[in-house]
Amino acid sequence: MSSHSIKALSTHLINQIAAGEVVDRPASVVKELLENAVDAQADTISLEIDKGGMKRIRVRDNGVGISKDELHLALSRHATSKITNLHDLENVQSLGFRGEALPSIASIARLKLSSRAKGSSQGWCLHGDGKEIFVDPPEPIAHPEGTSVDIKDLFFNIPARRKFLKTEKTEFHHIEIAVKKIALSCFETQFSLQHNGRSILHLLPALDQESANKRVADICGTAFIEQSFYFEHEAADLRLWGWVGLPTFSRAQADLQYFFVNGRVIRDRVVSHAVRQAYQDVLYHGRHPAYVLFLELAPKLVDVNAHPRKQEVRFRESQLVHSFLHHSLKQALADIRPDDVIASAADKATISPKVSNDNPLQAIDASKVHSKTQTHYPAKYAQQHLNLAVKETMAAYKQLHQPYQANATTNLSSSNNAVSTPVPLAEQNAIPSDTPTTAETALTSEQKENNTLGAIPPLGFAVAQIQGVFILAENAMGLIIVDMHAAHERIRYEYLKRSMAEDNIRSQSLLVPVSVSVSKAEADAAEQYATIFTDLGFCLDRLDSEKLIIRAVPSLLKDSDVAVLVSDVLADLLMYDNSERIQAEMNTILGTMACHNSVRANHTLSLPEMNALLRDMERTEHSGQCNHGRPTWTQLTMQQLDTLFMRGQ
Ligand code: ADP
Ligand code: MG
Repeated sequence: MSSHSIKALSTHLINQIAAGEVVDRPASVVKELLENAVDAQADTISLEIDKGGMKRIRVRDNGVGISKDELHLALSRHATSKITNLHDLENVQSLGFRGEALPSIASIARLKLSSRAKGSSQGWCLHGDGKEIFVDPPEPIAHPEGTSVDIKDLFFNIPARRKFLKTEKTEFHHIEIAVKKIALSCFETQFSLQHNGRSILHLLPALDQESANKRVADICGTAFIEQSFYFEHEAADLRLWGWVGLPTFSRAQADLQYFFVNGRVIRDRVVSHAVRQAYQDVLYHGRHPAYVLFLELAPKLVDVNAHPRKQEVRFRESQLVHSFLHHSLKQALADIRPDDVIASAADKATISPKVSNDNPLQAIDASKVHSKTQTHYPAKYAQQHLNLAVKETMAAYKQLHQPYQANATTNLSSSNNAVSTPVPLAEQNAIPSDTPTTAETALTSEQKENNTLGAIPPLGFAVAQIQGVFILAENAMGLIIVDMHAAHERIRYEYLKRSMAEDNIRSQSLLVPVSVSVSKAEADAAEQYATIFTDLGFCLDRLDSEKLIIRAVPSLLKDSDVAVLVSDVLADLLMYDNSERIQAEMNTILGTMACHNSVRANHTLSLPEMNALLRDMERTEHSGQCNHGRPTWTQLTMQQLDTLFMRGQ
């Protein structure tokens, strides 16, 4: 270095340095421009991209626009219309607030900013060529109300940066993801995306649940919307809503996970840990859940100014957020029952119009009433939802289902109660031969004739067993196929977990206490979270600042490596304020026990035994997957069977 004197950097260089953080590839330009359009309250946004955005990115919106004398300001560093003081920053509701996107982009690309402010009769534009300042006055231009930003030759003046760009295809792929993320957070806005003149996405405004489902399907795929459920939960001023993939719809990559905090898509380790834990017990090992989730909370409970690209946030009370997410999702997953899944699949599949009018259930538009996804709505859709037609259909539907529903309620409440629970099938090692409990036989011809569908339980009645492996049953929709071993394994596993929880966990003293070396912070955590350990049957003492001693462990874990377990739990606690590792370890052991004691394949069951198993499945949490996350049953509807045999074509 030639001289040691300190000099102030030029504004231009400052902007280029900021661009290094804000703009790493064309997709980040797209993200910033889209956020500006959304903040400007546009309801129609269109994007035209050439050559993966490396050649050209054009975003047009019909938002509030920018007035002639503020065009310069929009391109000046630290100029924003979104906040004016610290209080605004703490309560910020807009996506932008840092006032650095446009000046940064203008310093590394050729830019044209055109806008007509709402209510003004003339549009104005400014050109920039990546140089220092915009000296020329704005020029008049014909432009509709709203703003267009036209970016050409990204990084043309920073060759080093250009070298990091990938192929046109890859860059466009990233742009598509950026557009999809914003489109998921703004259901009311129309989006269109073109690449090299070809239309890639065209998303109409989604103002009701049906069109919201459609947008999610357009963005995440039809398979996702068919195999997910809509869910909504609110507690302690936190609100969580969105679409949650069924555990059987898992992914090899964590690539279908969208999480929004107050409308802003973020990545956060507290969030992803909480979600992972909620799925822990139901997901096939090594698979990733799929979800589109929205968390809403008071802006001052979350710091959005934690990352230059605003991709991360800091929760003021991360432990509260963690446990809210974890518990509400876990409960939602536990609440899935066969009838929800059947209904939701039937609801989202386009049901064939071959409806006979003398069938009272089919005459009702099942798509409006039966599905879980149809009964909860984001608040903004509540209005459309509560229209009279739907209410009437609901009433008619309930009346039809009275007989079975009454029955189901009794079963459910008794199974929640430890003392009066009738011994579930799962509890017995061998399948008893004389079990018949509730409704027992396959559909009687009388039932079929009268079509008393209300009396048919969701998984129907068994008709046969195939090769000692599968149970075939008939329900209102058609054929049900159950993997007997997988289903029984889950029932037994849930039973073991329940009885352990009810019995309290037994603790067993170690003849030779185990000592564990930990960091000082971990030892402090062991003291701070002492109840987590004692509640689960551990007895832990601190020997000195970096040593713990384990004197007792839950008897279920007597053969496990408890020293490793304890230090892993402490690492979790430091990282996430929370750990379910001990429960997970116990569950693994219970899972193995359940697996060894469940009905083996090639075991012949009588019809009443099969029906008892189906009824147990309907009552059991998580019964849609076995302990390893494999599906336990599937439905083939009459429509699907008809299609298989090409009937009526
Ligand atoms: P920020 O979004 O953080 O305020 P930007 O550099 O992205 O910073 O934008 C600067 C300002 O320019 C915004 O605060 C806004 O007033 C104005 N602006 C940018 N894009 C638009 C747009 N599409 N419509 C209306 N105003 C815009
Ligand atoms: Mg902005």
